[in-house]
Amino acid sequence: MEKILQLPPHIADLIAAGEVVERPASVAKELIENAIDAGAASITVEIQNGGMASIRVSDDGVGIPEEDLATAFLRHATSKLRTAEDLSAIGTLGFRGEALAAIAAVSRLDVFSRSRGRDTGAALSLEGGVPGDVTAAGCPEGTTMVVRDLFFNTPARLKFMKKDSAEGAAVAGVVQHLSLSHPHIAFHFIKDGQSQFRTPGDSQLKNAVYAALGREFALGLLSVRGSGDGIGVEGFVSRPLCGRGNRAMQVFFVNGRFVKSQLLTAALEEAYQNQIMKGRFPGCVLHITLPKDRVDVNVHPAKTVVKFVNDREVFSAVCHVVRDALDAGETPAEREAPAEVRPTAVPKRDFYQQMDVRSFREAHTDRKGAFVTSVPPVASELGGRLTVSDVFRRPGPAGPAAETRPLTVRESVPLPTAETPAAAVAAVAAAVEAVEPPPAKEPAALPLTPPDKEEAKQDTLLPEEPAPWRFAGEVLRTYIVAEDGADVWLIDKHAAHERINFDRLRTHQEPVMVQQLLTPEILRLSAEDAAALSEHLTLLNQFGFEAEDFGGGSLLLRSIPADLDAAMAAETLEEIAQKLRTVGSADGEGARDALLHTMACKAAIKGGWKSDERELTALIGKVQSGEVRYCPHGRPVAVKLTRYEIERMFKRA
Ligand code: ADP
Ligand code: MG
Repeated sequence: MEKILQLPPHIADLIAAGEVVERPASVAKELIENAIDAGAASITVEIQNGGMASIRVSDDGVGIPEEDLATAFLRHATSKLRTAEDLSAIGTLGFRGEALAAIAAVSRLDVFSRSRGRDTGAALSLEGGVPGDVTAAGCPEGTTMVVRDLFFNTPARLKFMKKDSAEGAAVAGVVQHLSLSHPHIAFHFIKDGQSQFRTPGDSQLKNAVYAALGREFALGLLSVRGSGDGIGVEGFVSRPLCGRGNRAMQVFFVNGRFVKSQLLTAALEEAYQNQIMKGRFPGCVLHITLPKDRVDVNVHPAKTVVKFVNDREVFSAVCHVVRDALDAGETPAEREAPAEVRPTAVPKRDFYQQMDVRSFREAHTDRKGAFVTSVPPVASELGGRLTVSDVFRRPGPAGPAAETRPLTVRESVPLPTAETPAAAVAAVAAAVEAVEPPPAKEPAALPLTPPDKEEAKQDTLLPEEPAPWRFAGEVLRTYIVAEDGADVWLIDKHAAHERINFDRLRTHQEPVMVQQLLTPEILRLSAEDAAALSEHLTLLNQFGFEAEDFGGGSLLLRSIPADLDAAMAAETLEEIAQKLRTVGSADGEGARDALLHTMACKAAIKGGWKSDERELTALIGKVQSGEVRYCPHGRPVAVKLTRYEIERMFKRA
């Protein structure tokens, strides 16, 4: 980035002196916009008490050079605007060089920054705008700003603050809007230690919508793209049947900047005339682009007002483009769209504010599958406690014991915290060991009476426990390669795991382990699917889904089976519903079977997923014991490649 300079006074005067710091949300907005300007690829926003106690924004952008750190906090200090001409080119973000000064003046602020390419970073603390000394600091490339005790020195301002919950919601809104206007940046929003959402940063607007505004909203959307009079309109709007009770989900951006506009709302709703029920409102995420000279978005930098030079043109462009999309309805490509945004396709995510097995494992294992202790997720990111079975969904011991291994054991361990990563990870590992099956018994029960010689001799003649097959590796992220001393085995990890789950679910007597959702989720389904599920709520409950009929084709979901990835809950229930619909309502066995099959499959590790070596080794044990031969659909789980076959391939035999 350019060197930071103070703007000459005449340029400073050209800029409307806007009050930047109104509330936590305005602080968050300025800090995030700075991070965006700094070229960040990922931005984490974390607030405590609605942002009143603290707002932390971390980015991986260019950073601020140590020698510029103090300058950045001077009024009208900016690296982004040099001349009066630049002003007319202000596109989306208002560069006025006063945000940091204004924020620092009313808070306790700490900044840590390391410029790209430099070995060390620097830190600076300011209290009420008064800077301390710049000191050297070890920190990652990029910038972290922590703003604490907002308005601590302006008690009059404090009085205007709403409840923490309202301030927090306003910050959430800011992060949502900036995520939606920057889908190429991965945003992570954490509130009071709970991860709220995480966008993938893969430049796909629909994925950002899915993450920031939720699955239920995202799945009810139609994509829109068109233009009129040189005004581009692009994004997503509600299908007419997915109207909402209020206008909270109408999100408009003009030239990349979030705006509130009655004109745009009216244009949108005009398009739904006679298509949407009275009292329902369409939702949308619409990006409107038009030449800069036909719009003034800099009316007030901290506000969301927009002035169009020609209102009529904008109204008709938006209305027509949206109406065309509604008329065209769903094209097959769009019908598939939700599948693409399914969380499985998106690596960085936290849609359900829940930790799931896979992301935990990925965060904790290196390329070879070994447990890593250096970068534990902080407890706050993982949303509290995690059960051991979440860490490793290990199959039970071989033999009959597997049948009785209770699924109900709820071994909770505290999550690794940032303070004691090594100790905490060790604790997780220890707890994993604790639920490990006991070592296999000696082959024969030794008689309690002193053995006579014959018996003792017989004892030694018993066949030795076969050596465990050796885990040789995994190929194509799907097949385990194992060696049994003589021959080589290829094991389909998903099929094997699915079989194990199936047998376990079929034989278990006790209620399954469940995970409570942080907030109950409302699932909107087709009327038929909802009815099919509602008919079997008790059965669903036995499998760990606590749900209730919410009316109007929706279901309120409170908990899901512990070994199901939370992000897959909705899709799993949809699949179950489809199967239940083909089963007669009197056919209890058929319904149970439908659940068994679906759950066995959904709770299994998937081909393509990264797996822990220990999990794979456990699967090998099951195959070796002969318990697992075919997947529940009858496909083989393991195939043997004999030494002879291999030698023949190399013309050795
Ligand atoms: P403006 O953004 O209008 O330039 P600010 O007061 O918000 O003014 O920031 C002042 C300067 O501090 C910026 O111009 C930029 O050089 C630097 N700066 C602020 N935040 C960051 C950041 N997250 N990464 C890199 N530089 C930053
Ligand atoms: Mg700024």
